[in-house]
Amino acid sequence: MDFSFTKHEEEFRQELRTWLEEHLPKDWVMSNQKYVKDPVFLRNWQKELYEGGWGAIAWPEKYGGRNATLMEEIIYEQEMVRAKAPSPINYVGIHMVGPTLMDIGTEEQKEQYLQKMLTGEEVWCQGYSEPNAGSDLAAIQTSAVKDGDRWIINGQKVWTSYGHVADRCFLLARTNHFEKKHKGITVFLLDMKQAGVETQPIIQMNGEHDFNEVFLKDAIAYDADIVGEVDEGWRVTMALLAHERTGIGAQVFTLEQQFQDLVTLAKEREDHGQPLIKNPFIRKNMIDLYARSRGSLLNYYRNLTKTLKNGYPGPEGSMDKLIVSEITKDLFAQSISMQGHQGILSEDVDGEHSYWSNNYLYSFGQTIGGGTSEIQRNTIGERILGLPKDLRR
Ligand SMILES: Cc1cc2nc3c(=O)[nH]c(=O)nc-3n(C[C@H](O)[C@H](O)[C@H](O)COP(=O)(O)OP(=O)(O)OC[C@H]3O[C@@H](n4cnc5c(N)ncnc54)[C@H](O)[C@@H]3O)c2cc1C
Repeated sequence: MDFSFTKHEEEFRQELRTWLEEHLPKDWVMSNQKYVKDPVFLRNWQKELYEGGWGAIAWPEKYGGRNATLMEEIIYEQEMVRAKAPSPINYVGIHMVGPTLMDIGTEEQKEQYLQKMLTGEEVWCQGYSEPNAGSDLAAIQTSAVKDGDRWIINGQKVWTSYGHVADRCFLLARTNHFEKKHKGITVFLLDMKQAGVETQPIIQMNGEHDFNEVFLKDAIAYDADIVGEVDEGWRVTMALLAHERTGIGAQVFTLEQQFQDLVTLAKEREDHGQPLIKNPFIRKNMIDLYARSRGSLLNYYRNLTKTLKNGYPGPEGSMDKLIVSEITKDLFAQSISMQGHQGILSEDVDGEHSYWSNNYLYSFGQTIGGGTSEIQRNTIGERILGLPKDLRR
């Protein structure tokens, strides 16, 4: 892969940079924590991105995207991270459900949902995990029973990110209890704003509220809400997961930014009158982190190139997801230990400690959400290295 940018690509970068300068709230970077969890702000931001032509650049033009090239996607991620722009509230819609519907959905589903995903009018969540089905996803027990052209859905989901703000859910339900585990699952596009759906918050250890329990009591979906075929939802489930892992891998760009933040911290903080960056032990750890993050970036580029050639994401997304989330965890652990006991403070006046401690606490979840590190290692072993299958499945 050629890493140099053409004149046209640099113009694209400049166009986005200028747009961000004009459209991000002036005090955005300073007040990051203030807006970052505000759903009204985030929905408006999503709409603004769409109106500016930046809603989902990789989507085809006919669905409101820009048919962006691989290099443009890379530039987009770099610039969004550089400006510390807020992540779209509809991450699940744009990066996971949208691409899956484009591949597998009906024309009516594309017509009904894609545009509203881009504008932020409809926010999506992912209803996969259940209290006894996470890594072993095919063990789901939420059931959908046919009643004319309707399906009556009962059960419980857990860890549903954005469930409390979502309008729609990409939901897995068991429609056949007699088939083998992977058979008999169907994917529904569920309306979250109905009487049979109740969400309850789960508060994370950093005190924030991202995910929820979702209780389904006689919730209703229709035949037209099914993606793919009845009982054949496993293929659809996996298609969405591939998009999810590749998307999480794109956090390599955020990781680069976070590494730069760590360098700044090490230059500004002192120990016995010396900047931390002069300490050989800290320098060694930082060089190690830098080498690993640089390696993960190059590996991400390599995998993206393959995705582009094939036209769909492969198991390599598991590699990116594993590596990036593990390095992120190590980076924040290092930032905390560099600061001594100040590192464990969660709040202070200028918000600096809360940045480090918040992200440190959040980084543990990053190695779990979208599939745990152990599961990514299994996927890499089986589907990339061709090792024998995990005995438990
Ligand atoms: C930040 C975050 C966001 C999330 N968002 C969503 C969401 O929006 N929607 C959703 O549906 N879910 C979501 N999840 C749930 C997530 O997908 C599950 O937590 C994850 O798949 C693990 O499942 P589990 O919690 O049931 O753990 P378990 O599967 O019970 O695993 C427990 C431990 O056993 C290990 N283990 C299990 N099986 C194997 C095996 N075969 N080989 C080796 N080790 C194994 C696991 O790696 C783990 O360490 C989110 C989770 C987090 C942390």
